Amino acid sequence: NPLQGAQFVLAAHRINQLPADSGAEVAFAGRSNAGKSSALNALTGHRGLARTSKTPGRTQQMVAFSLPPLPQEAGQPPLDVRLIDLPGYGYAKVPPELRDHWKQEIDLYLHQRRSLRGVVLIADIRHPLKEFDRMMLDFCFATHLPCQLLMTKADKLSRGQATQALLAMRKSFPEGLPATAQIFSSSAGTGVEEAREAVVRLLRT
Ligand code: GDP
Repeated sequence: NPLQGAQFVLAAHRINQLPADSGAEVAFAGRSNAGKSSALNALTGHRGLARTSKTPGRTQQMVAFSLPPLPQEAGQPPLDVRLIDLPGYGYAKVPPELRDHWKQEIDLYLHQRRSLRGVVLIADIRHPLKEFDRMMLDFCFATHLPCQLLMTKADKLSRGQATQALLAMRKSFPEGLPATAQIFSSSAGTGVEEAREAVVRLLRT
């Protein structure tokens, strides 16, 4: 597993508290309770890396995780790589000021972070994309930032239903959207390999 060895670095309330903006990083985004923490843990093979909970809206921080440096071509120094867990979005009980703060910070992060190579967007396969998800995809479209969409909790559907949801999602993507959708399940392990490869590909772009 190329994402093994991930380690907590810091939790930030503002983007200027994040690690130095060098090397390469991939951001994880999703609505609260979509299954983002579970996905991070499954991908890194580290059960307790990101805290999962049944209480949505708890993770109101940006969390940086370092990965072991990626080897590069001969003569090139290994690439410093990170994963950034963006705060879960869309939880109704979060006070409006805090929600606005995070909307602004996520926006700043997406616009200013030079080491950002791509986004992993996590959404529940059973629900249509919500406003936040569409906002992320619109941003990726406008800025040519690649996105891997994990349609998670696929274990809650039959295989046929999951495939149907995936095909419908792909069909709904406008031409030129730099996004790839895939089926995922943290509990069943579905799509974990595919997503790991996608993250490494993003880090290397
Ligand atoms: P986050 O708020 O997006 O970080 O979501 P969590 O990872 O904490 O997960 C929210 C809830 O969904 C928890 O109760 C998880 O156990 C559950 N969950 C997450 N991923 C899956 C999955 O792949 N399958 C199923 N059945 N449940 C999941």
